[in-house]
Amino acid sequence: TEQTLVLIKPDGVSRGLTGEILARIERKGLTFQALELKNVSAELAAEHYAEHAERPFFGSLIEFITSGPVVAAVLEGPRAIAAFRQLAGGTDPVEKAVPGTIRGDFGLETQFNLVHGSDSPESAKREIALWFPEFPV
Ligand code: ATP
Repeated sequence: TEQTLVLIKPDGVSRGLTGEILARIERKGLTFQALELKNVSAELAAEHYAEHAERPFFGSLIEFITSGPVVAAVLEGPRAIAAFRQLAGGTDPVEKAVPGTIRGDFGLETQFNLVHGSDSPESAKREIALWFPEFPV
């Protein structure tokens, strides 16, 4: 079994899609090990997206992620990392994500793509420690 860190980004929360997204996660069979509504500091956002620090969209990404509360969760299940990324769909909600995925069904723009999911066991470990410092490893 595996764990992954998932975020419902501020667009998903403000549009009232939290229940819809959590329901899809539950129906997939993934279980919640942690689930919390969080206000995100600029420091936490920059740490989370450190790998994108040099990208042209970094400033606007940090502004977006700190623009309102996010729902952060630790999900667990067999192949949880890939399973959630399958539910989410590709990064660009129109060009990459297909209908039936969270981004494909609800998104229009790459920045406002509703959810984040860890992309590897190493990222999951790093991101779980970042968002849930109290979480047992
Ligand atoms: P996430 O890390 O949020 O799960 P991802 O792994 O699908 O997304 P990344 O390439 O890691 O995608 O990009 C991180 C986030 O940065 C994207 O989810 C999106 O919100 C934003 N982003 C990525 N590319 C662009 C872009 N070209 N313009 C604006 N925002 C972007």
